[in-house]
Amino acid sequence: MGVMLGGGNIFGRVRYERIKDQVRNTTVEDVCTEEGIRSKEQIIALLGVAITEVEYGKLRDCIKYIRNKYKPEWNLPGLGKSVIDLLSTVKKGSKKFRSVMSGRGSKVYKKFKFEDIRPINTLWAQMGITMDERLLGCGMLLWNVREIDTEMRQFIFKWNQGMVHGNTVISHFGDVDRKCTFCKLKQVNELKIALGREPTNVEIEGMQVPDENRPHIFWECPIVYQCVQEVYHNLWGGNGQVDKKSFLMGKDMGILEATMLHMLSNMCIKYRIWKYKLAGVLPKVNCIKNDVSRWMDELTWYHKWRIMLPLVRRQIYV
Ligand SMILES: [Zn+2]
Repeated sequence: MGVMLGGGNIFGRVRYERIKDQVRNTTVEDVCTEEGIRSKEQIIALLGVAITEVEYGKLRDCIKYIRNKYKPEWNLPGLGKSVIDLLSTVKKGSKKFRSVMSGRGSKVYKKFKFEDIRPINTLWAQMGITMDERLLGCGMLLWNVREIDTEMRQFIFKWNQGMVHGNTVISHFGDVDRKCTFCKLKQVNELKIALGREPTNVEIEGMQVPDENRPHIFWECPIVYQCVQEVYHNLWGGNGQVDKKSFLMGKDMGILEATMLHMLSNMCIKYRIWKYKLAGVLPKVNCIKNDVSRWMDELTWYHKWRIMLPLVRRQIYV
């Protein structure tokens, strides 16, 4: 308000020089109410400076302009969509999460735990990893990172909500074998070489292939495990192994953003492997290495993420 009052806007320069210490800290809130500008007398009492009719008129116009340009908060509720409106399009299974997000019932919010949301609970129970509410909370922030593409954000959102499934679940919804996509491909290839011909359906059915549940397709599958370790090494250097919990759930890096960056890199690895699984092709480790590195380069082009790199690197195999 100080700038507006002076600078020849409302008070002349000479006059403003004289009274600026009195009026500089006046705020818009001081001079108006919800109904509009206060009366001239009230303004005089507030500023401690007698103002002319012309000055009052100028002040009134300024306030009108400001209120039009920057809507005061009491004008806002009718205009935009509330969080509840925004979330209402999210369907099935998300009711509990939605009510928490929209803050319906502050008691619920205070007692809120991720373990109360069944698909999330199921995911971690299946993975055999004890839920870590802090890491989970951090993971929930990932889908909203603006610097990454929508496709990836969708995958991250689904993963965190426990909505990414392997063939054991997918097979309920169509003509899909519940066996691991990768293990099956590998075994069929081996059988083909051993037989010197295409194996028959009966021969393929007779193979011992593990089920493609989530722990298998994201960690236990030997093809996936090998790929994860190689890509992780390529990205972070060092010669340690990434452990199951760090890779799947995350690892506390001391600073929220550093923890998030590490999670994002792991999500990227998971997503690339996942795409090979959907395509029904064995993962090409070198391609994934390049993809993940390029993706991280793009993300860390942003200063806020780049400065987290050394922090993550230092913590990674600790
Ligand atoms: Zn497998």
